[in-house]
Formats: sequence, C-alpha cells, structure tokens
Amino acid sequence: MKLILLGPPGSGKGTQAAFIRDRFQIPVISTGDIIRAQLKSGSEEGLKLKSYIDQGELVPDDLVIRIVEDRLAQPDCQNGFILDGFPRTVAQAQALEAMGTKVDAVIDIALPDEIIVDRLSGRRVCPSCGASYHTTVIPSANGTHCDRCGSELVQRNDDTPAVIRNRLAVYGESTAPLTAYYRAEGKVIPISSEGSVEDVKAAIFGALEALQ
Ligand code: AMP
Repeated sequence: MKLILLGPPGSGKGTQAAFIRDRFQIPVISTGDIIRAQLKSGSEEGLKLKSYIDQGELVPDDLVIRIVEDRLAQPDCQNGFILDGFPRTVAQAQALEAMGTKVDAVIDIALPDEIIVDRLSGRRVCPSCGASYHTTVIPSANGTHCDRCGSELVQRNDDTPAVIRNRLAVYGESTAPLTAYYRAEGKVIPISSEGSVEDVKAAIFGALEALQ
C-alpha cells in the first residue's frame, strides 16, 4: 500500500501515520523528520535548511525530492509506505511520478485554521523517535517524557503563532492545489480531522480496508 497523507500542518498527519504504520506494517516517510534529523547532525546541508524551517517556508524542491528518492530506494519501502509531508508542491508530485512511484490513495485531512493554531501551539514532540503529543488532547503518560522511548518532549521552533500563520499561508498557496491534482486521478480520500483522534483513525482505517 503506497499512501500519501495530505493536510495542513497540525491536521494530525503524523499521529495518523503512526497508526497506519502499526496496522499495515509499512514505514512512515516524514520529510520534516528527515530534515530535522539532518539539522541536528550539524551537517552543512542541514544548516542551510534551518532558516527555511524556522520561518515556516518550504525547503527547495530539488533537495526534498533527492531525500525522498533515496529513502524510497531502501528495501523496507518495497511493500509500501506512507508519505507524510511529501509532496508539498505540484513539482514534487510530478517528481514522485517521474521516479516511477504510483500511489494507491491520497488521504486528504481537512481542519479549520483556528483549530490548527490551537493544536500546534499545544503540540509536544519527541526529539528522539519523532512521536507526537498534545498538552491536553493526547498527553504522554507523565506529561513530560515520551511513552515510546522515554526522551524528554520538546516544542518545535516552528510551532509558534507567527510561524504557524506563515506555514498555513504556504500550505494554502503551494500544497492545497495538490488536492485537485490527485482528485483528477481519482485517488483522494477526504477525511475531516474535527473529531477525536480515534474517530479520525476509524474513518481512515475504514477507507483503507475498503481499498484493500
Ligand atoms: P513538517 O514536519 O512536515 O511540518 O515539516 C517541517 C518543515 O520542514 C516544513 O515547514 C518545511 O520547512 C520543511 N519540509 C518538510 N517537508 C517538505 C517538503 N516536502 N517540501 C518542502 N519543505 C518541506
């Protein structure tokens, strides 16, 4: 199963991607996580990317495309994968096709902007394994450390109100057109993210099981 998770920042893509990974045993490829890992490594390439991320801008297409091409060539992607945060532009979608990758479905998660700002402001992430929590909606067991690996949770630099607003603007301008792009191919599964995490999960699983 080859899936794309589309949706604005804060719509719950990462949380739902982890559920799909566990249920269907396919890896999650999060370009945001890969880029943040490069930043942490202190590589020259990583440092160049820091200002894009901190301002909520997209990093250049050619760079992200290279990252995804390398990752999809790994053996664990042979039986399928979940792309979380890629493609984010029509050029990236075209590059994915040019790699010979045919996706089975595009899960398009929608959520109103005002809810997004609240969700992202409360988001806490694990810097080690990438697990995502929310201070009130999905807190970790002790509120401060990751349930999966025990690392101390942090707030992302780009989860601040001004950067969130820019990320939403960038999404509307560059990424939202991908819904129409994939709808033309009949691949879009629209999902509302306004319900609980469990409701959204049930809606996605229902659609994916029907697809199988
Ligand atoms: P995310 O964790 O998916 O919210 O991504 C965090 C940041 O990484 C984004 O705001 C962008 O700066 C960068 N990024 C992640 N994926 C992409 C992509 N496909 N294209 C361009 N920039 C990306």
